[in-house]
Amino acid sequence: MTALSAEERDVVGTVRTFVGREVRPVVRELEHADTYPEALIGRMKELGVFGLAVPEPWGEAPVSMPCYAMVTAELARGWMSLAGAMGGHTVVTKLLVAFGTREQQDRWLPRMATGEVRATMALTEPGGGSDLQAMRTVARRDGEGYVVDGAKTWITNARRSQLIALLCKTDPEAQPRHRGVSVLLVEHGPGLTVSRDLPKLGYKGVESCELAFDGYRAPADAVLGGIEGRGFAQMMTGLETGRIQVAARALGVGQAAFDDALRYAQDRESFGRPIWQHQAVGNLLADMATSLTAARQLVLYAAERYETGQRCDMEAGMAKLFASETAMKVALDAIRVHGGHGYSTEFDVERYFRDAPLMIVGEGTNEIQRDVIARQLVARGGLD
Ligand SMILES: Cc1cc2nc3c(=O)[nH]c(=O)nc-3n(C[C@H](O)[C@H](O)[C@H](O)COP(=O)(O)OP(=O)(O)OC[C@H]3O[C@@H](n4cnc5c(N)ncnc54)[C@H](O)[C@@H]3O)c2cc1C
Repeated sequence: MTALSAEERDVVGTVRTFVGREVRPVVRELEHADTYPEALIGRMKELGVFGLAVPEPWGEAPVSMPCYAMVTAELARGWMSLAGAMGGHTVVTKLLVAFGTREQQDRWLPRMATGEVRATMALTEPGGGSDLQAMRTVARRDGEGYVVDGAKTWITNARRSQLIALLCKTDPEAQPRHRGVSVLLVEHGPGLTVSRDLPKLGYKGVESCELAFDGYRAPADAVLGGIEGRGFAQMMTGLETGRIQVAARALGVGQAAFDDALRYAQDRESFGRPIWQHQAVGNLLADMATSLTAARQLVLYAAERYETGQRCDMEAGMAKLFASETAMKVALDAIRVHGGHGYSTEFDVERYFRDAPLMIVGEGTNEIQRDVIARQLVARGGLD
């Protein structure tokens, strides 16, 4: 496995320092007030986090996928919501770089690199997120452009993102159904209403919204890449990045829970000794660290395959599946180690426990990941 370059280690180190100095001291207050982290997002823009995937000539040299994953994990170690704020943005960046027309790239990427423009992706509909081909949002040709009608839900960062990569049907009658799907690059305007910010268990501070399209007009050149019917395949490629990102978020949350548990187990005493010396607690710590180390290797493996241009849908799925289930278990075990304090909102472990389930559900549920993995195992004739 290729190690990060010295420059990339510096990038990860800079983000780790930012998290330690600027995020951790304020995260509990922001979380419990459910406050949008304006200042922290501003600092992430200054640090170049929103431009990590934007290549020249629109940005500076992008970092590798393993580096991007480690930056994501560091942010999530401080606050998962911050990692979430740049997740969809990076997927849309990758979509534009890989599939955008030169005009679309010139128009969006320079401002996305600085974070002046933030981007999100809108896939999920009220009727369901797993069966994307059954989506009902339709963009119909009308004169020079499209008229969009439909609804999306759970779209994170939608209110504050100027660019929305909208997955919709440009040909609802197409067979197979995915051939009628396109990605439209849309902006806020008449006919698009952000109707509601959804209340959430965790992932506080950043908004996840319902979007209603009612006679929304998009220009003809809004179709990603300029050719209709390619959106499903484009988005599936984008989701490889998304799943590595979500896996890395899970890694960060799990790592934070483990760090807190390890520290607490050395500080807290019972029966005359630090609790880690009780075998039951020591075993929890050993299992947490072992699972996290395995999860980290899976995330880096998937990222490495992505970086070398190999197919990595199965590997990204495995990383996302294992890292998110690990984060959930580690967060619960961190609560066990903290005893009553683990249930207190004055400690951070309760937040990890509320944040971890999102990585099980988001970017394709873990049931869907298992489906992807099983299909690929059969298609590839087993493991390499
Ligand atoms: C906080 C949050 C933020 C989100 N942000 C975004 C965002 O920015 N953009 C976006 O587009 N979406 C976003 N989502 C939506 C998320 O991607 C979906 O919730 C997820 O894909 C599942 O879709 P669903 O909720 O409609 O569940 P459903 O598709 O209704 O699934 C319900 C259950 O059935 C299972 N299931 C369904 N089909 C199968 C199958 N074939 N095999 C086995 N099991 C199956 C699922 O695994 C799940 O357990 C977000 C969700 C949350 C909670």
